[in-house]
Amino acid sequence: MVNQSSNPYELSHYVGGQRVEGTSGRFGDIFDPCAGRVQGRVPLASADEVRGVIASAEKGQAEWAALNPQRRGRILLRFVDLVNAHIDELAELLSREHGKTLADARSDVQRGIEVVEFSAGAPHLLKGEFSDSVAQGLDVHSLRQPLGVVAGITPFNFPAMIPLWQSGPALAAGNAFILKPSERDPSVPLRLAELFTEAGLPDGVFNVVNGDKEAVDTLLEDPRVKAIGFVGSTPIAQYIYATAAAHGKRAQCFGGAKNHMVIMPDADLDMAADALIGAAYGSAGERCMAISVAVPVGEETGDRLIAALESRIQGLTVGPSLDKGSDFGPVVTPAAKERIEGYIDLGVREGAQLVRDGRKASVEGYEDGFWIGPTLFDHVTPDMLIYKDEIFGPVLSVVRAEDYEDALRLCSENPYGNGVAIFTRDGDSARDFASRVEVGMVGVNVPIPVPIAYYTFGGWKASGFGDLNQHGPDAFRFYTKTKTVTSRWPSGIRQGAHFAMPEGS
Ligand code: NAD
Repeated sequence: MVNQSSNPYELSHYVGGQRVEGTSGRFGDIFDPCAGRVQGRVPLASADEVRGVIASAEKGQAEWAALNPQRRGRILLRFVDLVNAHIDELAELLSREHGKTLADARSDVQRGIEVVEFSAGAPHLLKGEFSDSVAQGLDVHSLRQPLGVVAGITPFNFPAMIPLWQSGPALAAGNAFILKPSERDPSVPLRLAELFTEAGLPDGVFNVVNGDKEAVDTLLEDPRVKAIGFVGSTPIAQYIYATAAAHGKRAQCFGGAKNHMVIMPDADLDMAADALIGAAYGSAGERCMAISVAVPVGEETGDRLIAALESRIQGLTVGPSLDKGSDFGPVVTPAAKERIEGYIDLGVREGAQLVRDGRKASVEGYEDGFWIGPTLFDHVTPDMLIYKDEIFGPVLSVVRAEDYEDALRLCSENPYGNGVAIFTRDGDSARDFASRVEVGMVGVNVPIPVPIAYYTFGGWKASGFGDLNQHGPDAFRFYTKTKTVTSRWPSGIRQGAHFAMPEGS
């Protein structure tokens, strides 16, 4: 049973340029993961409330799309300036609900606005193509036009970054955006909505509707919503992708992950171990690009790696998110803590060797917080559930590979395909790995290869459904529809009518 703070705050939605109270009478709890109690409540919108938000977005979109792309870009750049001016406030708000450290929360905001900055280049990114004289007197050009109202459904683990990855390009392209953020940490999305308004975004162009399945299903079914961007767990990603398609919408849906890091015998082991510690335990492992499986090649590499990890784990501090000395904070909810501890129990039952057990972690003065310490399993095998399932906590499994091909096969055959890394000093192994591995984002001596804003982000297989990635040029394809115009000017008509279809070339 989780205690409630004596004075929990109550959040709202953000519609038509202002905060709007929920009317459904349904609420979700927002936890303070460090204190281990409920600190606030978030309204869960009814289908009618969501339909009202869609109407408001539809109204705002026409005015927004009529602004030329450069003017839209300027408003986005003003927003970037405002977010930078408020970054400390946003990071603290984020840490308080999510539980990640302040430094990590700042990166969450920073990686988000980098995509908004990139999106301000809309005049260039929205250019179409032109072909002169494809036949006598005949020209062809293409236009990229906004879709109208689009929606984003986002996870708890990046409450600033992912909403901005979706909304930056969507808005730059002239769409109105409805965000249905995670109900775990919705304060930052609401604050971002206010900053959009302050930057000059017309009312109704960026809206936040808080809610659960009822809100999501309404967005999926309403014909006025033209596209859905989703990021979250794989079963929900599959559901959203199928339901959006059944309602004639385009969708890009990014799911869970099980990211591997291969450590070759020739790797700089200290560098690899340092990288692994940050990638496995940073943000309490609650990152879709976290490394949850280390794959040392050869028994000797495995033994050296375990020794290097053990000594580093001893120096890690799990503590309050706002405390500068903390390496990572608590997990997000009591349910997450219970699930992760359940997996640690399971790993022991499955026969993996528990080198470091995080189940008894406790922080003085915060005894009720949702703490889990860094956990390390050795001798994990691919048939174990702790290998197969996404645990999404500070739990690292070591699966020892016999040789390079064995390691490559393990990474490629995993049903997820979000991120992967190889640590080696050998360019040939690195190049071969990057070319052959069946995973969407690859790091070479880089543990978390999240691409920068002007490249695209997206996993393969069970980590991503849809054909276009997030941010980079793909995002502008996703958030626009292409119109192709074939034109002949009157002098061509003067030559007389044609009744056979013209041949292309
Ligand atoms: P989640 O799937 O529980 O929730 C994501 C969103 O879906 C939330 O807004 C939630 O309200 C909504 N939702 C939940 N259940 C629903 C249902 N039955 N019907 C309709 N909507 C529903 O995910 P989460 O726990 O918030 O986030 C963690 C997950 O997200 C992990 O699996 C992680 O790997 C994944 N993730 C993936 C990426 C990526 O880019 N691939 C990035 C970040 C997080």
